[in-house]
Amino acid sequence: MTTATVAAKPAKQPKPLPAPNSDFYDVYETLGAEELATVKKVRAFMEAKVAPVITKYWVDDAFPFELLPGVKELGIGGLGMQGYGCAGGSVALLGFVLMEIARIDPSFATFFGVHDGLAMGSIYLGGSEEQKQKWLPPMARWEKIGCFGLTEPLVGSGTSRGMLTTAKRDGDTWILNGEKKWIGNAPWCDISIIWARDVADNQVKAFIVENKTTPGFKVEKIQNKIALKVVQNGHITLENCRIPEENRLQQDQSFRDTARVLKMTRFMVGWEATGCAMGAYENALKYCQERLQFGRPIASFQMVQDLLARMLANITASQCLLVRMAQLQAEGKLTDAHASLAKAFTTAKCRETVAWARELLGGNGIAADYNVGRFFADAEALYSYEGTFQIQNLILGKAITGFSAFV
Ligand SMILES: Cc1cc2nc3c(=O)[nH]c(=O)nc-3n(C[C@H](O)[C@H](O)[C@H](O)COP(=O)(O)OP(=O)(O)OC[C@H]3O[C@@H](n4cnc5c(N)ncnc54)[C@H](O)[C@@H]3O)c2cc1C
Repeated sequence: MTTATVAAKPAKQPKPLPAPNSDFYDVYETLGAEELATVKKVRAFMEAKVAPVITKYWVDDAFPFELLPGVKELGIGGLGMQGYGCAGGSVALLGFVLMEIARIDPSFATFFGVHDGLAMGSIYLGGSEEQKQKWLPPMARWEKIGCFGLTEPLVGSGTSRGMLTTAKRDGDTWILNGEKKWIGNAPWCDISIIWARDVADNQVKAFIVENKTTPGFKVEKIQNKIALKVVQNGHITLENCRIPEENRLQQDQSFRDTARVLKMTRFMVGWEATGCAMGAYENALKYCQERLQFGRPIASFQMVQDLLARMLANITASQCLLVRMAQLQAEGKLTDAHASLAKAFTTAKCRETVAWARELLGGNGIAADYNVGRFFADAEALYSYEGTFQIQNLILGKAITGFSAFV
């Protein structure tokens, strides 16, 4: 056989590399078809509209108001809440949507979580029928945006015992005095849920305060944050603010009612943290597949694969835990301790995961341009807000030992 008769071997095509996928155990398949379609719609919006612009807003410490019309069209206002013009759906759907948003931008998820979970959730859980009818529909349509004022400059973790903001009844009105710090959305939103201690019975009560029309209500934007920079956090001052009795959340009697809201929203922070880890992992994996060192993609190195495997394990464990939590919540069995374990575990795993992602990008890991640096910084705030890691473990510790170790 001459060489001329030998058919030339076709050039070997390189095998396509697997696309980064942070749903390794197909947890998204636990949703029904309709709810999955909602999550996919949110993913498409986040990837097409938010991802291309969000780093610039993050670097500039600015909120992307241009994206709000698109958010309204998604029809996700009041997700997880039934009636009152809310989007409804299961608690799992709300979680998956938050995870999906955080996968692209944890700040955007926080903006959504503060409005939908903390502000609307407070009214949904603590408001009278009349209050829900009045406030929830415009909030579900995003015509009125809310915030949640619990933390104070001098009292953070200890708000259950030492809240300094006071409420004094005077006929049909209440007079509120005090300060609130770190309040997400506060510098520009319409409604604040303000938690204050009633001087008459020393119990914590909640008030709907209209930011733009209440004399004595002032907000200063908190500057120079290093995490969740897209969210605008405010330092609120309340100076003899007169709030009508009809704006006091009628079903809330004490800090136990604050805790009812926090139980729900802490669990939601777990989804945000897991989304944050997913975003960091997917960005890092893609980078590792493309980045060459020593003439080879760094994804082919054993020690790099070890970190990627650990990251995916953290994410998968967190997702499975949250899906079970959603079942417990749907069955009315979710306890404060359940929510605390989930918040502490998922945010700690997120923090570990984003740090490994940052590590895998080498120097580029600290540049905002590669996304991973943004996830890395944002994870710090998720880890601390809505109750720090220590506070969650103290709640859990009390439940499992029978001893309170708060002080
Ligand atoms: C970006 C961001 C957004 C936020 N958004 C909001 C919001 O919208 N609304 C709102 O009300 N709040 C908000 N917060 C506030 C947040 O919930 C608090 O920061 C958090 O609860 C911790 O309070 P602190 O910062 O005062 O810390 P501190 O309470 O001063 O705690 C400092 C440290 O001491 C530890 N510690 C405290 N007590 C104990 C104890 N008994 N045992 C062991 N360790 C303890 C804590 O774990 C922590 O490590 C936000 C915070 C951030 C950073």
